[in-house]
Amino acid sequence: MDQGRGVPGAIILAPRTKNTRTQNQELRTPHSEPRTKNTRTQNQELRTPRPNSPFSIFNSQFTPISLSLTNLCMFQILSYTTKNFEVNMRYDVIIVGAGPAGLAAAIYSARGGLTTAVFEKAMVGGQITVTEEVENYPGFEEPISGFELTAKMQAQAERFGAVFIEEEITAMGMEGLCKVIEAGGQYYRAKSVIICTGAHPRRMNVPGEERLTGRGVSYCATCDGAFYRDKVVAVVGGGDSAIEEAMFLTRFAKKVIIIHRRDELRAQKIIQERAFRNPKMEFIWDTVVQKIHGETRIEKLELVNRKTTDITMLPVDGFFIYIGILPSNQLLESRINLDSAGFVYTDEYMHTNIPGIYAAGDIRYTPLRQVVTATSDGAIAAWSAEKWIIENEDEFEVDCAEQ
Ligand code: NAP
Repeated sequence: MDQGRGVPGAIILAPRTKNTRTQNQELRTPHSEPRTKNTRTQNQELRTPRPNSPFSIFNSQFTPISLSLTNLCMFQILSYTTKNFEVNMRYDVIIVGAGPAGLAAAIYSARGGLTTAVFEKAMVGGQITVTEEVENYPGFEEPISGFELTAKMQAQAERFGAVFIEEEITAMGMEGLCKVIEAGGQYYRAKSVIICTGAHPRRMNVPGEERLTGRGVSYCATCDGAFYRDKVVAVVGGGDSAIEEAMFLTRFAKKVIIIHRRDELRAQKIIQERAFRNPKMEFIWDTVVQKIHGETRIEKLELVNRKTTDITMLPVDGFFIYIGILPSNQLLESRINLDSAGFVYTDEYMHTNIPGIYAAGDIRYTPLRQVVTATSDGAIAAWSAEKWIIENEDEFEVDCAEQ
């Protein structure tokens, strides 16, 4: 049974105004206060059909005049009580996470005529929204902020009918053809699920870290390294990522100082040897960063030598944190195959080991984690999901209809 395929699904209950975006852009100026997690979310509430929202089509107190029957049918309401607004909704594709991978998957899926819902618990755009300028995503001659880039992706996905739902998914039923998602006390069903929950850099959790992120503190040399031409930067960590990224930074910075908590690196020997040979690299051993100082941007690092307990101040222009990356895999059951660090194994079609479930972007076991690779993954995952749905159309009619 076709669940509203081809029907434009985005229900815009309040028109997006020019002001909405402008306000957000103002918040993204480098010297403004850091944007709170809610900034995009507040706007989303204007255009996202949330089951329990006062704007929701499911709220009996609200009668959307412009809502057509066609729009309503798209949701295939399976059960509904006005008392607690309990509803069940069905989509062809549910995308978990609205970073670049999820957004690209949404564009491809919705444009392919599949009813598509994207769940995001926090901020549409994911990690990249904290990057002030993205200058290596093809198609943008001038740098674009991560926030603006992903906002464009969201608008593009919405234009094709993708629905954005601001809810945290609390459970996923992966058994059978028809997948079940629980979010915000509601149950949603999908023929296919694309997991785009991403990864997050391990934080140091020291004073100044959060406040100065995007203001000299960074977790991505590939993204931000070029801003430190002829500057002094420090990198914390002793693994492959820290050393490789530090080497990358020597292309721009005049000095790159590795701060490591032990007296030997964890990185592979060949990588270490290259680093030791590089005249721009310096090493501070047995030392941890206990505080990041700076008013409007980073000024210096407060270091403690773990052997002597001496405290010193290190003036820097930039500080890159590479103390490991953590997959956002809390949702995934043990049935999804993960590598030892918790990233999802997929094949080149983004299949996980569970039929109908795909993974894309940083959550994947992958050699490069960039916006361009995430969007590529998302496109492939949506294409694979579409093939899966077409191939199993007859079975879905039985399996999904019964649930
Ligand atoms: P990693 O190997 O886990 O290294 C993390 C580093 O950060 C370690 O040196 C660790 O110190 C240090 N660290 C951890 N917590 C810290 C804290 N709170 N304060 C200060 N330092 C802290 O992580 P990674 O470098 O991101 O690499 C992740 C995985 O990807 C690894 O398996 C790595 O081999 C792989 N990788 C491979 C390549 C490549 O093959 N080219 C490139 C990048 C990454 P200790 O050493 O004292 O524990």
